[in-house]
Amino acid sequence: MNYDLIVDKFDREHLWHPYTSTVDPLPTYKVKSAEGCIITLEDGTRLIDGMSSWWCAVHGYNHPCLNKAVEEQLHRMSHVMFGGLTHEPAIALGKLLLGLVPPSMNHIFYADSGSVAVEVALKMAVQYQFASGHPEKNNFVTIRSGYHGDTWNAMSVCDPVTGMHSLFGPALPVRYFAPSPQCRFGAEWDECDIQPLEEIIVQHHRELAGLILEPIVQGAGGMRFYHPQYLREAARLCRQYGLLLVFDEIATGFGRTGKLFAWEHAGVEPDIMCIGKALTGGYMTFSAVLANKEVAGCISSHYPNAFMHGPTFMGNPLACAVAKASVELLLSSGWQEKVRSIESQLKKELAPAASLPQVADVRVLGAIGVIEMKKPVDMAWMQRRFVEEGIWVRPFGKLVYIMPPFIIRPDELSRLTAALVKIVKETE
Ligand code: PMP
Repeated sequence: MNYDLIVDKFDREHLWHPYTSTVDPLPTYKVKSAEGCIITLEDGTRLIDGMSSWWCAVHGYNHPCLNKAVEEQLHRMSHVMFGGLTHEPAIALGKLLLGLVPPSMNHIFYADSGSVAVEVALKMAVQYQFASGHPEKNNFVTIRSGYHGDTWNAMSVCDPVTGMHSLFGPALPVRYFAPSPQCRFGAEWDECDIQPLEEIIVQHHRELAGLILEPIVQGAGGMRFYHPQYLREAARLCRQYGLLLVFDEIATGFGRTGKLFAWEHAGVEPDIMCIGKALTGGYMTFSAVLANKEVAGCISSHYPNAFMHGPTFMGNPLACAVAKASVELLLSSGWQEKVRSIESQLKKELAPAASLPQVADVRVLGAIGVIEMKKPVDMAWMQRRFVEEGIWVRPFGKLVYIMPPFIIRPDELSRLTAALVKIVKETE
């Protein structure tokens, strides 16, 4: 490998990267191009992608169908404001999405990113309660180990202790946190699991606008997979005590957990749902907040008769066009079979890691494979070893995990898992 080509001095000295220092930054590797499942670095090193660029690039990179969708839209218009104007890409995407999300979802609010979608969803819940005569119901309950994004209110519902935002705690609105669900996906349900959430809701429902959580898979807050019954019980409590149920499907959406959306594992419909990430196949930032008729109707028929949010780039035509192409591609790609075979390969090939002394747990759901270590990993060292072995995996804390593009071939996936287990073995 030629580090002079891969490491960029200007980048190191001037560009801020996610969650790292400007004084002593973690290394960044310069990418020349990406195609299919392969990320090619500036010196020609080829890496098999295990991250789908943080859950997004489900079809891999540089896909001809998605390129075509962007190019065609670019020649018509890249953007027009959504206030007072509309366009075919937004309408066509909306029609497509409404056929795929929970049947009760009826209205779509396009937003810029996952975090903004979460802000919008929380605002929607507060404005709904205000409109329905309960302005005092303006706080939220959530579960520990959650992750909902990096903006202010999104941070306030992330895990307050183990999450990335504990430092901001004193500056954030104070939310109610139930312990994270303990019953694992696929294990026996224990009704005690819901009790702590029930206690909070019974005690504080008069001030609670809603419950927000990531259904089934808690992503960046711990890569935990929990029991669908938890969602059924949580939904029952929300109905009983007048809380809106908000599902953050930003990471779980578009097939990643083995269902098109994770709510399907439980058959529970939320009142509000956020989607993002893989919505555009990883081409650009975009998200959507879906709401049922009751939420949208109540907000719209009480003062100020409008939902008070409207980002500049709302409904961006380029993003809508590529999102429509990506969702259509997914639906016609045989994704269920692909995710099922990735799941069984991950189960088989990551299993040997479970008996390693460094490893606390190995778990797989859909196209997500997680090796939880006993100690936090040395990220810079591990990342470098992964690159030397020809794979792209970015661990955090104690979690070494992969969620490859769905188009990965079995031989590529085997090389990814073999290198992963090899490097895990090398840790202390
Ligand atoms: N919610 C969940 C469940 C996420 O995983 C993420 C991103 N990791 C977000 C929200 C925030 O999305 P974005 O980074 O696009 O703002």
